[in-house]
Amino acid sequence: SPSRSSVIIIGAGVSGISAGKVLAENGIEDMIILEASDRIGGRIRKENFGGVSAELGAGWIAGVGGKESNPVWELASQSGLRTCFSDYSNARYNIYDRSGKIFPSGVAADSYKKAVDAAIEKLRSLEANLDGEVSEQPCSPKTPIELAIDFILHDFEMAEVEPISTYVDFGEREFLVADDRGYEHLLYKMAENFLFTSEGKILDNRLKLNKVVRELQHSRNGVVVKTEDGCVYEANYVILSASIGVLQSDLISFRPPLPRWKTEAIEKCEVMIYTKIFLKFPFKFWPCGPGKEFFIYAHERRGYYTFWQHMENAYPGSNILVVTLTNGESKRVEAQSDEETLEEAMGVLRDMFGPNIPNATDILVPRWWNNRFQRGSYSNYPIISDNQDVHNIKAPVGRIFFTGEHTSERFSGYVHGGYLAGIDTSKSLLEEMRKQKERESESQAFL
Ligand code: FAD
Repeated sequence: SPSRSSVIIIGAGVSGISAGKVLAENGIEDMIILEASDRIGGRIRKENFGGVSAELGAGWIAGVGGKESNPVWELASQSGLRTCFSDYSNARYNIYDRSGKIFPSGVAADSYKKAVDAAIEKLRSLEANLDGEVSEQPCSPKTPIELAIDFILHDFEMAEVEPISTYVDFGEREFLVADDRGYEHLLYKMAENFLFTSEGKILDNRLKLNKVVRELQHSRNGVVVKTEDGCVYEANYVILSASIGVLQSDLISFRPPLPRWKTEAIEKCEVMIYTKIFLKFPFKFWPCGPGKEFFIYAHERRGYYTFWQHMENAYPGSNILVVTLTNGESKRVEAQSDEETLEEAMGVLRDMFGPNIPNATDILVPRWWNNRFQRGSYSNYPIISDNQDVHNIKAPVGRIFFTGEHTSERFSGYVHGGYLAGIDTSKSLLEEMRKQKERESESQAFL
């Protein structure tokens, strides 16, 4: 029979690592971490591309400069992570139409204001509808510039429409991670505190990579965890940090099955797909001055290669552009070859910058949707929700405790959400372990 540990943590993303650290700090040293992929980090992941560290997943530390300090910003400061300030707010003044003309700033500002007003109105009418009233829906965006702004507003930053806890609590600034060691450096620093590392490599055999958990058998007495390669692990408790997309898939089966209130909450949570496509060029042909980091392409199809960023602020001389797609467009591009995507992106760039620009020499297309250990980029709770769903998604089922960005009430979808969720879940588990001990000693005293 396999040896039994106190806790098995499933997943070594930011929430799994922060959970492990808190357990270790509280004397739980015999934990095991099972990670499906061949590295830690999860949705924090860098790849070398065109001579720089391209962040395929999380890129920004969002929420800096406010009344409270973002814990991830603190980790970054402590470990000397290189970052640079990003200002999206200029993007609306760099909107190109299909003939390469930039919309006059007055037109852009007007359209932007109209879109924000419409979104606020829509939100109000949704709220009113919740109370049983019916009100008229504002008209939907139609022209390319309206569609582009609608995309930016809804798929990127709703902050101007409704308050978002991240920006309310931690401040409105965002910093792009621009460090060769990658965003993941923060995770390695955290792991160092409780896992044996040498020269930046984790050598601790409590961290087990390439272990795909397929089954959790749970009872009042403990949890049996089975992995795809036929291994069996036993523990008193499990902390499960797999993403909401993975929970919605059939990767992990539960025996007995999860209760209805749990599966229903999981089904209800929306998964966002967010795809950053990196393109490398022999030289740059886009404007680079102040206020030019972001630019927008207005097309009659919503979300069609709309949101662009150059990497010159982060990595001067890198000649790299990043274009971000979401949801339907992400799925479409994931399903086609990178050559086709490159051709589409070049068509868009030629619309904006003319026929004589050079072809990209390399392209990187992350596939978060088709990654069976992710099935999407992050959770997206409806703006109007009563928090019951997130409570149910977070609530333990017997000896299985849930964590991950999707279990964070205030900061779901963010790195700091995952980080704080890991801490929170560990604390709940430690409390449960303490109570369990108490119950045991009481029943022993009784005997
Ligand atoms: P994960 O990082 O997904 O960790 C879960 C781990 O579990 C993974 O390593 C996975 O491999 C593993 N796993 C899954 N299933 C199994 C299994 N069956 N067995 C074993 N292991 C398993 N946040 C920001 O704050 N700023 C940003 O700019 C930002 N941009 C983003 C851009 C993209 C493209 C993406 C994808 C995410 C972005 N995020 C951003 C969100 C942020 O990356 C996540 O919220 C955070 O990293 C999630 O951490 P986690 O620990 O909850 O989950």
